[in-house]
Order: sequence, then structure tokens, then C-alpha cells
Amino acid sequence: MTARIIDGKARAERLVADVGAAVAARVAAGGSRPGLAVVLVGDHPASQVYVRNKRRTTEAAGMRSFAHDLPAATSQQELLARVDRLNADPAVNGILVQLPLPKHIDEEAVTERIAPLKDVDGFHPYNIGRLVLKRPTLRPCTPYGCMTLLKDTGEDLVGKHAVVIGQSNIVGRPMALELLMARCTVTVCHSATRDLPGLVRQGDIVVAGVGRAGFVRGDWIKPGAIVIDVGINRTAEGKLTGDVDFAAAREIAGWITPVPGGVGPMTIATLLANTLRAAELQDGTA
Ligand code: NAP
Repeated sequence: MTARIIDGKARAERLVADVGAAVAARVAAGGSRPGLAVVLVGDHPASQVYVRNKRRTTEAAGMRSFAHDLPAATSQQELLARVDRLNADPAVNGILVQLPLPKHIDEEAVTERIAPLKDVDGFHPYNIGRLVLKRPTLRPCTPYGCMTLLKDTGEDLVGKHAVVIGQSNIVGRPMALELLMARCTVTVCHSATRDLPGLVRQGDIVVAGVGRAGFVRGDWIKPGAIVIDVGINRTAEGKLTGDVDFAAAREIAGWITPVPGGVGPMTIATLLANTLRAAELQDGTA
């Protein structure tokens, strides 16, 4: 079997267009134009690329983009004061502080300072707690984007065994909660997991968020499984590649996301959908 490719790039373009149409309708009806503030501290090269893409796509969807580029030496107090100002600014509906932050800044303190209804990354304990309780408000972008891709396959997710590899706060854990909410049976694996290949072989759905190129082998995949590769790794030649051995896995899986062009574009598109929702939540139209 050769897997069907889940085209995240095309799906993300459709989502951005849908958000753009909703923004235009909102503005035409007299509503405010949603605004997203993206804060970048320092000059981490990968973060600069991510932030540039986020800002460009925000404008493509007809939203206002507010750039806050701060020097690497910014103190935690200064950053928290900036977040406070953005929390109070009615033109700003969403706030994203690009991670990782320089080592002298406590990421948790910054994440928790963002007003929950402006937390478009969905990382604030309020939003994670709502997801745990099956009453999500603003949902972490990468797992939420993965759910859109999974639902688009048209496969019935209920009762499927989903195996998530990775348990980080931004990928694995919220992914497991999303899958549980979709009524999958969920196994979460991490670096202390025993017999990882044996567990992955049970997965009707496999989500890989490890950060190691080609880590998930083709012969770990159950025939017909849906494989979602969240990993973004750069090879020695500078190419982007996922956590799954794509060439081998696509011969066995039923569906598979490529890297690039899979989960990555969906993360940004979902961020914009979250920003529109944040604006609606703030003015009570959600
Ligand atoms: P992370 O915080 O480093 O977490 C990696 C996870 O993988 C950890 O839970 C770790 O387990 C687990 N792991 C490491 N080695 C393992 C092994 N040998 N067996 C089983 N599990 C193992 O990384 P992250 O932030 O979640 O990111 C994961 C990947 O996704 C990266 O490639 C990142 O670039 C990518 N990413 C992509 C997007 C996107 O939009 N596509 C968004 C975010 C991240 P322990 O918890 O036991 O250490």
C-alpha cells in the first residue's frame, strides 16, 4: 500500500483564506480588525524565520500584525512589562511570545503573564486546563492543526488507538488531550518508554513529536495507519526533514504527512484562526 499524502500546505492555505474571509465579514459588519502581536527576544535564527512567516501570514489574512523585536539582553521584568502593555491594548487580540526565550528569562512566568483570552498559542495554564476538562477555549496550535488534518482524512477517529511519541507541553501532551477528546484510546511515549517499536506498531494513529530525524522506522508502522509527523529537523545538507522515515513509512501507512508541507503550515494557519477566535471571545461574539 502506498499512503495517501495529507497535504498540510494546501489545507493551511484554505484555512488562512477562510480566516481572511471571516475577518473581512467582521470588519464589513463594523467589527474591529483582529490584531496579533508577535514578540521576539534575541536573534535565534530559526525563531526569526518562524516569526517572519507568522507576521506575513497574519497580514495575508487581513489582520493587523504588531512586531515587537527586543534585544537578547532584555530583562525578564522588561519583557513582563511589555506583555502587560499588550494585555491592556484593545487593538491587540492575540499575543505570542516566540519560544525559546534567552536563558535568563523564565518562560513559564512569561507564558502565565499573558491574558488567557489573548493567549493564541494556547499555552497558558487556563487554556491547558480547559483542554483537560474537555471545554477548550484557545487550543495549542500545533496539536489543534494536527486534529484538523486527522479529521480531513474522513476516517472515523472514535475508538482508534493513537500513539503519541513525545510528551512536551507544546506538542505531545496537548496532542494526547486532543486525541482523548476525539475519543481515541491514547498511549503517550517518551524517552523512558519501554519497547517503543512494539507500542507504535499498535497505533491506528501515530503522532511523532520527538525532534530526531528519521527516528520512527517504516517497519514500526501498522499497515494502514495514519501517520502525523510533527518533527522539524535540519539535515547536514540543510534540508528539512521529519521524525518519521517517510520513504519507508509511506509504503505501509494509509495516510501520512510530509515534512515540509505537513504540520508546519497548519500551525501558523491555526494561530490565525485562534487570533480571530480570541477577538470574538474578547468582544463577546464567539
Ligand atoms: P521536546 O520538548 O524536545 O520534546 C521531545 C519529546 O520527545 C520529549 O517528550 C522526549 O521525552 C521525547 N523523546 C526524546 N527521545 C526519545 C526517545 N528516544 N524515545 C521516545 N521519546 C523520546 O520537543 P518539542 O518541542 O515537543 O518538539 C518536537 C519536534 O516537533 C521538534 O522537531 C520540533 O522542531 C517540532 N515542532 C514542530 C512544530 C510544527 O509546527 N510542525 C511545532 C512545535 C515543534 P522526555 O519527555 O522523556 O524527554
